[in-house]
Amino acid sequence: MTARPLLNRRLDGLGTTIFAQMTALAQRTGAINLGQGFPDTDGPQEVREAAVRALREGRGNQYPPGPGVPELRTAVAEHQRRFYGLDFDPDTQVLVTMGATEAVAAAMLALLERDDEVIAFEPYYDSYTACIAMAGARRVPLTLRAPDFRPDLDALREAITPRTRLLLLNSPHNPTGMVLTRDEAASIAELAVAHDLLVVTDEVYEHLVFEGEHHPLISLPGMRDRTVSISSAGKTFSFTGWKVGWVTGSAPLVAAVRTAKQYLTFVGSGPFQYAVAEALRLPDSHYTGLREDLRAKRDLLSTGLEQAGFTVHRPQGTYFVTADIRPLGEEDGAAFCLALPQRCGVVAVPTSVFYDDPEGGRSLVRFAFCKQDSVLNEAVKRLGRWGA
Ligand code: PMP
Ligand code: GLN
Repeated sequence: MTARPLLNRRLDGLGTTIFAQMTALAQRTGAINLGQGFPDTDGPQEVREAAVRALREGRGNQYPPGPGVPELRTAVAEHQRRFYGLDFDPDTQVLVTMGATEAVAAAMLALLERDDEVIAFEPYYDSYTACIAMAGARRVPLTLRAPDFRPDLDALREAITPRTRLLLLNSPHNPTGMVLTRDEAASIAELAVAHDLLVVTDEVYEHLVFEGEHHPLISLPGMRDRTVSISSAGKTFSFTGWKVGWVTGSAPLVAAVRTAKQYLTFVGSGPFQYAVAEALRLPDSHYTGLREDLRAKRDLLSTGLEQAGFTVHRPQGTYFVTADIRPLGEEDGAAFCLALPQRCGVVAVPTSVFYDDPEGGRSLVRFAFCKQDSVLNEAVKRLGRWGA
């Protein structure tokens, strides 16, 4: 064997995801895991039962159709009409994926040429960095800065070059909790049209908006034929392990993403696809109930963190809150998160890992609040020990 590294250069430095690392740390230390974002209570019982029924009745136990089962594609189209007034043809304009993660990967692999530039909000969700790299393209940050993490539209204008191919946008935004306003979305759409850019929108937290509203970019003028919208059942129905996601967009864009997707997994989550079709049709009370439940949890954890001495950036959406550790006399979020399980019995994620330049989010730490109130209360009590 030559001395050449085994891992190709595109993946150099990606290592193990921060979420896997932090969950392993929580398991090793027995600490409360507010790191990786997954609910500690499963979603609706009737949706679980729908999955069991599908499995027993032999629906989806063998390869489902590549684009997804028709029942789910139809339910996704109905959901887009019900919440956003958008019409999609379930046969040509909807694609089912293995979670939003596969949708992002397939979109990057399908739509990018080597050395294309992709502008994305920094801090980036970790898979964006990896998928842009796997596609051989280059990421260009549009940095969201504390305290309010609004996108700087002048900076976006300046970041666009003749090599820019695509905007990869996430709103509600993980990890900051920023939700694009209608005006911001409209300005971004205008820039995309003016520079003839493709746009991929990751909308997995679309139903977790506490302030303002979710505005799908694809609904804005000139965006219909240049936007790939991505979402997933993980957050909306609290089944993150099922990995059922979907893409909606124009037929040519969906066909392009489907081409790549066929060779990633071909298909997956067979019986769960039927269950998610039923989940999407749940009454409005499911969606508002989830949002109000998480709003209360956001407030519980945010207030608790404030009382423990952090500066808290209360999110407008998602189930993550970003806190600044400087009032505790600390500077380095990564060191803080490594020490936190020992000192307080809690796990969190250092936001610096989501920046090209870790200095960008050095003193910021992300806590997940999709946990039972008793767990959040205990976590808050323990966090009070840091300064004690
Ligand atoms: N995008 C964002 C912004 C996320 O936070 C997550 C993770 N939860 C995903 C994509 C991945 O979604 P899925 O679990 O459906 O693959
Ligand atoms: N999206 C989840 C988070 O931000 C993690 C998903 C994963 O572990 N890949 O915590």
